[in-house]
Amino acid sequence: MCSRHEQDEVKRVLVESVCGWARENLGPSVKARDAAGMFDRSLYMRLGSELGLFGVTLPEALDGAGLDVSVTIAVIEALSMTDPGIAMSYLSQELLFSHQLYWTWQACGDAMPERHAALLKHHVLGGMAMTEPNAGTDVLGMRTTAVETSDGYRIDGVKQWITNGPEGDAFLVYARTGEARRAISLFLVTADCPGLERSPCDEKMGMRTSSTGVLMFQDCRIPRDALVGKLHEGLRPMLRNLAVERLGLAAQSCGIARACFEIMRGYSAQRMAFGRPIAEFGQIQRMLSESYSVCRAMHALLEEGVSEILSGSSDASVTADAVKLFCASSGERVSRDAVQVLGANGYSSAYPVERLHRDSILLSIGGGTNEALQKNLSRLLTRPS
Ligand SMILES: Cc1cc2nc3c(=O)[nH]c(=O)nc-3n(C[C@H](O)[C@H](O)[C@H](O)COP(=O)(O)OP(=O)(O)OC[C@H]3O[C@@H](n4cnc5c(N)ncnc54)[C@H](O)[C@@H]3O)c2cc1C
Repeated sequence: MCSRHEQDEVKRVLVESVCGWARENLGPSVKARDAAGMFDRSLYMRLGSELGLFGVTLPEALDGAGLDVSVTIAVIEALSMTDPGIAMSYLSQELLFSHQLYWTWQACGDAMPERHAALLKHHVLGGMAMTEPNAGTDVLGMRTTAVETSDGYRIDGVKQWITNGPEGDAFLVYARTGEARRAISLFLVTADCPGLERSPCDEKMGMRTSSTGVLMFQDCRIPRDALVGKLHEGLRPMLRNLAVERLGLAAQSCGIARACFEIMRGYSAQRMAFGRPIAEFGQIQRMLSESYSVCRAMHALLEEGVSEILSGSSDASVTADAVKLFCASSGERVSRDAVQVLGANGYSSAYPVERLHRDSILLSIGGGTNEALQKNLSRLLTRPS
């Protein structure tokens, strides 16, 4: 692990090269992939082979870069400026799968099974499966069960809306392992496991360049070493990782808002109406200036959330909720204003803002809806100290 100063420099250089690479390599095809609702796995894998972006937070012993989550989050923001769907697949692999798997073993203190380490070293396409058809916000209402057998566990149930679900190689799956509402455990399930069937979800409004699927477990047999961490203690990694996930999703909103601001800035200076650039009209100036200020505020709040996670602050989870709540609604607002500034061009696929606006809406739903975060925050902020 390098010093904070060295890491900040690595991050700055990396973000610059990711932004340029994404513009050049993701930009030309993103419109067509969005229209087709297509996750292009071979294009995605180039994030690893050409940019070395896989395993950022893993130690060198696991063929990782040994950096902290602030770097992953910065990369997610950079990718989201061009292709938020690809950024979401990356977030799922890096934060929800690799980082969570590694961190859960670190936190529990037991040695990581060799099979888990091998999957991390291979930088497989991973995902995380928590949500079910009847349990989204009410995550503890999950019905998927994992029952102990003579040589491992048997999983039965359905997970839905799982990013990387149709193409992923391995998943971290939450399942009920006891009668108590909080008796949840975490398992590592590889895609080739007998008893696991996968299918794509219904067509999505946005984030269409990522893939989202249903995982159906029917008498799915997994070995004993599939358990991640301790039995019945899956809630701890779930809650800790939710905070990291929320910062990653907030970074997506930041990237989308920045891209939209840049497009509306350029467009409003060029587009003429009544003999003047529209940037000279007060109502357009309001949207431009407020979008700029909101982008700056989003980024500053995200940085604060990231620094609290890194310092292990006891407020980190509250801050992560606040960051996601603010950034998700702000990303929607800035991208909506960009559509407005571009008029009919904004409403069509001639410019990326309509796609970015559709993508921005997911961020008010995934990883904790705005309503769930409002409830969480008010409960935490009003509890007796
Ligand atoms: C593109 C995409 C990718 C996703 N990727 C993943 C993934 O990789 N892994 C994964 O596990 N999940 C994933 N999800 C699922 C996502 O996290 C859930 O959709 C989200 O948690 C909301 O759950 P839900 O859709 O079941 O909505 P519900 O929980 O049914 O909520 C419906 C509405 O009711 C509101 N509501 C619910 N409870 C309350 C309450 N107590 N008070 C007030 N309002 C309430 C909600 O805010 C929402 O407005 C993904 C979803 C999408 C769309």
